[in-house]
Amino acid sequence: MTLKTRLLIAVTAALAASGIARAAHNINCNDPYETDVSAIFYNVDNEYDDFKDFIEDHTGVNLQSCFENRFKDNGDVRCTNLSTGLIGYSIPGDDHIKIDTGWLGGLPQSTDADQKFRRACIVGTMAHEFAHSCFSTEARAELIDDAAFGWWQQRFDATGYFSNCPQN
Ligand SMILES: [Zn+2]
Repeated sequence: MTLKTRLLIAVTAALAASGIARAAHNINCNDPYETDVSAIFYNVDNEYDDFKDFIEDHTGVNLQSCFENRFKDNGDVRCTNLSTGLIGYSIPGDDHIKIDTGWLGGLPQSTDADQKFRRACIVGTMAHEFAHSCFSTEARAELIDDAAFGWWQQRFDATGYFSNCPQN
């Protein structure tokens, strides 16, 4: 391990311990979504190999380094009112995605169980849009988002049903 790598790990650990998202990620959302997205980046990053294996096993898709980099390094999430009826938005080749605040506002947030299940829905949406940002087709993005949702469910024992969660 190089000194540079050790320093990066130390800095990352310090940021995680203080509850701040990694420096390379940008999140522009209001709470509780800022905290949700930050927790998603933190957990997927920490357990990326397991996340990747789960998705690949359930989809038959080989996840590319672009997708890994979105979750571990350069993913940029902006919560905004899309006003299009769509949940998310992305541009192939661009590391930023948008998540609709109208959709987010309809996800229940009364209990701890709601928080776990809400994050499963949000990680599904992030995976869907990051997949598109890495040039995935709609069919492939759908497979990946279902599997990302499933990984979060089993990892955090997130159970429930939200009528507006596309992975239900
Ligand atoms: Zn799509």
